[in-house]
Amino acid sequence: MLLTRLLSACHHFPGFVYYGARLCEATQTVEIDVRPRKGSKPICSCCNKPGSGYDTLHERRFEFIPLRGFAVILLDSMRRVDCRQCGVKVEAVPWAVGKHTLTKAYMPFLAQWARKLSWKETARSFRTSWERVLQAVEWVVDGGLHNRELGTIRAFGVDEIQYGRGHQYVTLVYQIEAGCTRLLRVGQERTKECFTKFFGMIGKPLCEKVEFVRSDMWKPIAHHCPNALNILDRFHVVAKMNKAIDEVRADEAWRMTRDGYEPVLKKSRWRLLKRRENRTGKQRVRLRDLLQYNLRGVRA
Ligand SMILES: [Zn+2]
Repeated sequence: MLLTRLLSACHHFPGFVYYGARLCEATQTVEIDVRPRKGSKPICSCCNKPGSGYDTLHERRFEFIPLRGFAVILLDSMRRVDCRQCGVKVEAVPWAVGKHTLTKAYMPFLAQWARKLSWKETARSFRTSWERVLQAVEWVVDGGLHNRELGTIRAFGVDEIQYGRGHQYVTLVYQIEAGCTRLLRVGQERTKECFTKFFGMIGKPLCEKVEFVRSDMWKPIAHHCPNALNILDRFHVVAKMNKAIDEVRADEAWRMTRDGYEPVLKKSRWRLLKRRENRTGKQRVRLRDLLQYNLRGVRA
């Protein structure tokens, strides 16, 4: 079939052959069977040396680059190697790494699109999941960092994203400098753990050269980057301001109730924050009541 011939020419895997392809219209998928070339020995995934075959596992599906809206899946029953050095291990296959179900060809493809579109849009466009896009970006970023010099990092930003149904988190650390915006780390963990690994990765001399950090988790950063200045983006400034106003309001409300005044501070946060021209008539009256008390919250 032409497709398998084309794949052999563009994505040749030593020791393996494409031997069949079929179109499943119902699922809009092209399935391609891969099998070891006759007489080829499986490679141990631990020591990367060839060994004798032990047995064959269930068929596994690997996502390949999609073809005009059709998902392309490679199907392979992986062998296990009886390795002299490592014992019985699953073989290494040239199109995938570890337990990833995305192929090595597909991960950079997805990661590249994830730079142009949001991760959600990337997943939707290529009919895969957000988690797979995350895996692809993580793999590409890790690989990229192994192969290049980090250089001085003057400024970096941190974002924590919650995803999935449970409490799953991913933390992104990226360099944010004029002319250099790049992802430095993608960690499927909470911010604190990510920091420990990130600072370990860049090392103390680079940490000390950091000048600016955009993050709301300042304490662990201040410890590692003693010369850095904390910058907050607009979202975090507003969040911190709301928190400060709420704290002062609660404090004052308690004081007013204790002193026998009417609890005018309840539900007043928006009145304190609204612009004069946007306030309704009723809100203006209540704000005047509030101002009479000369509270710290009005100044906060
Ligand atoms: Zn081995």
